[in-house]
Amino acid sequence: MLKRMVFAIIAVIFISSLPQWAYGREQPKISPDDRKALYLKTAAVTDVPWYLLAAVDQYERSVRNIRRDLPDAEGIIGLYFEPQQWTGPLNLNKKDKNILDITLFDGLGKDGNGDGLADINNPEDVLYAMAEKLSEHGPGINNIKLALWDYYQRGKTVEMILQLSKLYHHFNRVDLDGHAFPIPLRMNYDYNSTWGARRGWGGLRIHEGTDIFADYGTPVKATSYGVIEMIGWNKFGGWRLGIRDPQNIYHYYGHLRGYGKHIKKGALVKPGQIIGYVGSSGYGPKGTQGKFPPHLHYGMYRDNGSTEFSFDPYPYLRAWERQERN
Ligand SMILES: [Zn+2]
Repeated sequence: MLKRMVFAIIAVIFISSLPQWAYGREQPKISPDDRKALYLKTAAVTDVPWYLLAAVDQYERSVRNIRRDLPDAEGIIGLYFEPQQWTGPLNLNKKDKNILDITLFDGLGKDGNGDGLADINNPEDVLYAMAEKLSEHGPGINNIKLALWDYYQRGKTVEMILQLSKLYHHFNRVDLDGHAFPIPLRMNYDYNSTWGARRGWGGLRIHEGTDIFADYGTPVKATSYGVIEMIGWNKFGGWRLGIRDPQNIYHYYGHLRGYGKHIKKGALVKPGQIIGYVGSSGYGPKGTQGKFPPHLHYGMYRDNGSTEFSFDPYPYLRAWERQERN
């Protein structure tokens, strides 16, 4: 009896200590080295650099894990082909693995591991098929961009994939998962859960973020790895900037007093890097400030492959704060 109780207590402690802040649904544990090895292997036999394969793969993984109509990415590869896309639109055999049939029916399926079959469930075949698709117009980044356009038919998606590829290229690894709290913990700051509250200025809007109140000039840090996607003045956000992270999440920092060193569009950042300073800019024409107390407006947005939507950053902020404190 005592033994069982002790076991139950240990089990509860174990379960409650699991990280609950992981994005979306829980990802299976796959070694980043294995993943990168697969990208390198495929890159070696195609015209597509490994970091572009990594970017397309990660983009699709992020979309799959938030869209309910697609199966979650559970294996080493996040890429997803519809069975009919793989075997060919007019192919009646939706499970076809025969390369000749698939080619005849204009399917995208390919044999990447040399076993003579184009298997939609084999990661090497799937990655190789994507690399072939991306080489359709020939080698070089401009041709690959064209192929990405053809395939996704969405400028935003192409932009996100190219940004992601820059991150992988620069850091030369695929595990870019670290996070930081946006305000140094030793500074004075205060925040509450305010996402979804109503806002009056400039028409009725919903508050898409968390306000972290702090003194003028308090450093603001990047909360993740990422690429600066947007920077400059906006009548609502004042001096603001947006960072796209490797999970394809967009982090918005508003009402800044100014920006950090080397912070410009396209720059790559690391968690904890200073990107700006707390201010009260916004709610008017360029340069307006002081219409409200100084604070950092912090927003998070996900992209589902066709549109972007806001979600509540508060639980993530709390988790990053806790993590840094320990
Ligand atoms: Zn705000």
